[in-house]
Amino acid sequence: MKDLLVVGGGPAGLSAAIEAARLGLEVEVVEEHAEVGIPEHCTGLVSLMGMHEILGTGAPIIREVKGFRVYSPSGKAYTVRGAEAKAAVIDRPAFERELLRRAETNGALVTLGARFDGDGGFKTLINAEGTASRISRRFGFEIPKAIPAAQVDLETRDFEEDLVEIYLGSYAPGFFAWTVPRREGVRVGLACQEGIPLKKVETMLEKFEPWRRFAGARRSRPFFGKVVTGGPLKRTQRGRVIAVGDAGGFVKPTTGGGVVLGCFTARLAARVAYRFLSEGERIDAFGTGWRRLYGREFKLMKLARKVYDRMECEEVDRVLEALYTSGALTDAIRYDMDLQGKALWRLLESRAIFSLVPSVLRAIF
Ligand SMILES: Cc1cc2nc3c(=O)[nH]c(=O)nc-3n(C[C@H](O)[C@H](O)[C@H](O)COP(=O)(O)OP(=O)(O)OC[C@H]3O[C@@H](n4cnc5c(N)ncnc54)[C@H](O)[C@@H]3O)c2cc1C
Repeated sequence: MKDLLVVGGGPAGLSAAIEAARLGLEVEVVEEHAEVGIPEHCTGLVSLMGMHEILGTGAPIIREVKGFRVYSPSGKAYTVRGAEAKAAVIDRPAFERELLRRAETNGALVTLGARFDGDGGFKTLINAEGTASRISRRFGFEIPKAIPAAQVDLETRDFEEDLVEIYLGSYAPGFFAWTVPRREGVRVGLACQEGIPLKKVETMLEKFEPWRRFAGARRSRPFFGKVVTGGPLKRTQRGRVIAVGDAGGFVKPTTGGGVVLGCFTARLAARVAYRFLSEGERIDAFGTGWRRLYGREFKLMKLARKVYDRMECEEVDRVLEALYTSGALTDAIRYDMDLQGKALWRLLESRAIFSLVPSVLRAIF
């Protein structure tokens, strides 16, 4: 019986395995696919700071990103570009292969092509199954709130290499659509709370002006996933099982980005498992630990999503205009991309706060 069984060889599971094996635990990771990182479901946009913290050097960066262009529901574009890159688009499969290499180098046993569907045989278990929800159901966890998404890669030269584009409005109800630069073109996609994402992507490619420039571009097969939007679970540990990454809801409710905070919290879970087994510390220290480090940030990001969910398109238009003209949108890119509390406060300090009042009231009551 291993000290720690990690179910899922995604970024969270492998990060937990690296940390636990480094501390000296006997670790096994089981991953149901024959390769890590495949099939791909992510856009791969992460903070450079986060990537540096996770991998040090050697991150598989495809593009460095200096800013964003956001389109309001009525189609008005606002571009914000910093002097330096704060974000990067990474090659997700290569990122996971590097994490796998480090987990094995530290002494973890990684078994590929093996699905865990038991309920015992471990001293502690880290549930890093992503959005699959099978392990969560088995061990009595809540299921993280998630919405469907679809993406497609397009071969084109008609894109800005250091800019991400975001589209708000009725094409992607309750979330947004995106264009992200890749090596040989762009990755476009969207997540939505209503309707079928792939159909909406097709409609956008046909009718949405900024995407019509991609007509005729060679397309990859579409690929799919679920974006977690509800924030961390109330209970992220049950008995000797800890839920991390998407399974624990450790994804920014604002943007759906879960790679960096997923890896950070998974490492914390590994340290708790280690202290539980070697020093008799309480295993529920995980819940206290992540709340102390990230609890406030998650609360603010969750509130921001709740407010956005209740906004009408005209309100989004007004707020964006106010954020841009007051300089708050430009300022926001100076702040931490993962812990977005400061950036959100900065947005609230601007006079856009007045346009937000009705949606804030609707979110609260
Ligand atoms: C469309 C889309 C775009 C996204 N874009 C971004 C982005 O740009 N930036 C960002 O930071 N985040 C993004 N995310 C979120 C990000 O992909 C996730 O937060 C991240 O992958 C979570 O990592 P994880 O290790 O928890 O789960 P996963 O990456 O889903 O890994 C879980 C692994 O567990 C395995 N598994 C499941 N059940 C079992 C089992 N019973 N036995 C064995 N193996 C099992 C699966 O095969 C899988 O490999 C995006 C998500 C989607 C859907």
